[in-house]
Amino acid sequence: MLEADQTIGGRVQTDLVDGYRFDRGFQVLQLAYPAAKKLLDYDMLEIKKFPPGVRIRAANSFHVLADPLRKPAYITKALFSKVGTFADRLKLARLAVEVNAVSLEKLFEKDEMLVQDFLVSYGFSDSMITRFFKPFMTGVCLDPGLQVTNRFLLFVLRMFVQGDVGVPALGMGEIPKQLAKTITAERIVCNAAVESLEGTTVTLENGQQITGEAVVLATPAPETARLLGKPYSMKSSREMCFYYSTREAPIKEPFLTLNGEENGLINSVNFSSMVAPDYAPAGSQLISAVVPGYPDAPETEIEKTVRNELKEWFGNQTDTWEMLRSYTISHALPQPAPPSSNPFMQRSHLGNNIFDCSELSTMPAIQWALLAGERAAEEVTNILKTS
Ligand SMILES: Cc1cc2nc3c(=O)[nH]c(=O)nc-3n(C[C@H](O)[C@H](O)[C@H](O)COP(=O)(O)OP(=O)(O)OC[C@H]3O[C@@H](n4cnc5c(N)ncnc54)[C@H](O)[C@@H]3O)c2cc1C
Repeated sequence: MLEADQTIGGRVQTDLVDGYRFDRGFQVLQLAYPAAKKLLDYDMLEIKKFPPGVRIRAANSFHVLADPLRKPAYITKALFSKVGTFADRLKLARLAVEVNAVSLEKLFEKDEMLVQDFLVSYGFSDSMITRFFKPFMTGVCLDPGLQVTNRFLLFVLRMFVQGDVGVPALGMGEIPKQLAKTITAERIVCNAAVESLEGTTVTLENGQQITGEAVVLATPAPETARLLGKPYSMKSSREMCFYYSTREAPIKEPFLTLNGEENGLINSVNFSSMVAPDYAPAGSQLISAVVPGYPDAPETEIEKTVRNELKEWFGNQTDTWEMLRSYTISHALPQPAPPSSNPFMQRSHLGNNIFDCSELSTMPAIQWALLAGERAAEEVTNILKTS
């Protein structure tokens, strides 16, 4: 395995600095991902779960929309919250039943349209779309415009209905580390960036050439397109993530906290160390604020705005929060706009023993990266067996 970086993990890495665990951009594992359930050992990862629901900042206050069965204490508040109407709650419940009633494969055969158009045609109110779906989908796809395929929404909703959201106790970077344990260490070569591809011969940036029986591409979509010499026009979702430390968190339950106001840079605020205490040293809390895209301003200016927004949300105590670290990610994922690839129909063999299991030919997310990798392994094995 040739890896350009000095370590494995790609976009799923955790930096351990002074006892804090900084995921490279806030991210989570949806525990219902079928491929993750099959290929990962959740017990070994010591998965820590977020509470089932979200906290939404809207109309200058917080509103919790939680799973009514597991968090009954929030039912009354949710019914009368300023996020959508009672009819919206019923429609959301109906949609949750619908996405669960068919197989995951069938969800990717549904008529495809933009999320925005789907929500309007389903009858959701403006308030529900603006205050709930928009920040929710921005959190998932980092696209504030709801310009992604409705199939992605249906997939993510199904995952939320079927399981919790969590992180490994020692950070998201434990996921690729666990996968790498299935390969002997000497078969992983880091600092080996592939410059070009000719048949099944790769040329590294240092000029070294390596010829294999097959080549499997597992690079980010723009890089896969470059190596294959294909035109590339997908839009990359980008994010900035600011990490703060404080002694005491300003909330009691660490629900994923979303910005449902129609303004502001922040999309979500996340209390990772309340969920997974090893994310921060004893006596401290690690909090992240995620800004999708990156605004056209110097980072210090953006951070100043983020801090002002945090103060509006959580009060003066944020003055004492220390900004520890920030990440700017120029390609978090390719925006899954329609027409999108059906991840179940995709085959990785491109011909001549070249295989593509990257997000260029499937959907973005850990579920699809794992599934595509597994499929490619099967295809390579079968094709090499018969050749
Ligand atoms: C901030 C952020 C938040 C996210 N949130 C979530 C989330 O909550 N849930 C979710 O499911 N998904 C999330 N994702 C998406 C998820 O991380 C990706 O879908 C997944 O990591 C893709 O895995 P991959 O192995 O295909 O690509 P990558 O993880 O990008 O791995 C590709 C590897 O290829 C290497 N490489 C690149 N070019 C070359 C070259 N020329 N030669 C050799 N090696 C090369 C890279 O160094 C890298 O290690 C998020 C991503 C980011 C960045």
